Amino acid sequence: MKKTVSLFTCLFSLLLSAQTHVDFNRYFQDQTLRIDYYHSGNATDEWITLDNMYIQGTWAGNPAGLIQWYNMGKYAAKVYDLVSNNLIFSTGYSTTFSEYQTTGPAISGTSRTYHESVLIPCPKKRFLFIIEKRDKYNILYPVYKLVIDPSDYHIINESTKRTDDEIYPVVKNGDPHKTVDLVIVGEGYTQQDQETFKKDLDYFVHVFFSVEPYNSHRKKFNITGIYTPSHESGTDEPRQRRYRNTPLGSSFNTFDSDRYLLADNNKVIRDVAAQVPYDAVLVMVNIDRYGGGGIFNWQTVFATGSPLRDCVFLHEFGHAFAGLGDEYYTSDVSYEEFYPAGIEPTDPNVTALLDPQQLKWKDLVSPGLEIPTEWGKAVFDSLNHSMALLSKEKASVIQRLHDSNETPGAIRNAENNYNNRIFSLRAEIDSFLFNHPLKGKIGAFEGAGYQSEGLYRPTVNSMMHRFDMNDRSFGKVNERAIIKMIEFYTE
Ligand SMILES: [Zn+2]
Repeated sequence: MKKTVSLFTCLFSLLLSAQTHVDFNRYFQDQTLRIDYYHSGNATDEWITLDNMYIQGTWAGNPAGLIQWYNMGKYAAKVYDLVSNNLIFSTGYSTTFSEYQTTGPAISGTSRTYHESVLIPCPKKRFLFIIEKRDKYNILYPVYKLVIDPSDYHIINESTKRTDDEIYPVVKNGDPHKTVDLVIVGEGYTQQDQETFKKDLDYFVHVFFSVEPYNSHRKKFNITGIYTPSHESGTDEPRQRRYRNTPLGSSFNTFDSDRYLLADNNKVIRDVAAQVPYDAVLVMVNIDRYGGGGIFNWQTVFATGSPLRDCVFLHEFGHAFAGLGDEYYTSDVSYEEFYPAGIEPTDPNVTALLDPQQLKWKDLVSPGLEIPTEWGKAVFDSLNHSMALLSKEKASVIQRLHDSNETPGAIRNAENNYNNRIFSLRAEIDSFLFNHPLKGKIGAFEGAGYQSEGLYRPTVNSMMHRFDMNDRSFGKVNERAIIKMIEFYTE
């Protein structure tokens, strides 16, 4: 009996390893096949309809990493060879649409359409392309299937060159197959702003390599900036009723969250990026305001001008590149069911702690720390509660002063008074986290992923939580997740 079991185990692991090691040259040509489609729907229904397919340049990914090792992203795209029925490529990703599905309007049935792209290495022979979606238990099931013949003349095979764009290779470390290839596309830079674009590009590349683990892995990255001229400077700010004609369709107030900045013209973003081989696309938005967004294996968007811009950039790229989750839980984010209760999140840095013995970062826990870890949450929560009350009081008092036709001077005085109190309360909240006695220690701290209870984060504070200008560290758990992803693209 024992013998049978071990034979079975051997066979099973053999099958598994056969599944994860795919011979690139046997199945693929060294070209990128871009599959564009429209994704429509609401929280319960969705439709995928094909737009176009394109053959575009060298495959930027790692020929030795064709099957994703991670289990992240709301969707997965899979490629099956139709001669052998073997899985020969898979990638996980989330999109703006997948976030839309968790918002109020989608839950109440309003359907919307988003444009999406999947990049795969171009197979040599006919293949089955499948898009899978995660159910609420995080199990993948197919939502779209298409048999594709790579020699089909409907697949567009034209030059990717665009006349007015300019390409700046800022970090060059060689073969795109063995490096992480980032492309930073400028948005909202007019012809007069081209010098600003170059300065911003250099600045953020410097910021990128100033933190770990990027600093010690700098030889593993290629970074290219692409300037594409914009008709107007800046971006859309719907709440302020300011709209700007820009090529990539970026806008604040995504899902009615004022600071959430994303870029919706996916087709243009992909056309601009396709001029170079890339693994990840970042959209750098020329505006002096706090905001950004990052969606796993989809896009990173960041505003260049706020005092917290470095942190925004690093934080959003953490979401997009390594699938890191948000570690904060007091915010105006508009997701209603982002993490279903009682289900372990796929994010490497957020856990529901369903079994403390199986904590996914168990091996990194600091000696002597209990799981879950007491961190003075009640004190932190009461500070945040006071902040919420004070902001509310400010709004109603100012409104009352306006209604009773007080002088502008009196209103300004009242405003300044509240702002000072808010400022000092914010400093107290910052200090609680930034100077916490458990700073840097790894445990399981309750409060993460927009939820005060039932979700846990690995450190009291990190780059995925509250921005500390004097300490831009991600913490060991997040660093490990980032390094694993770098290795996936390079080894
Ligand atoms: Zn975030």
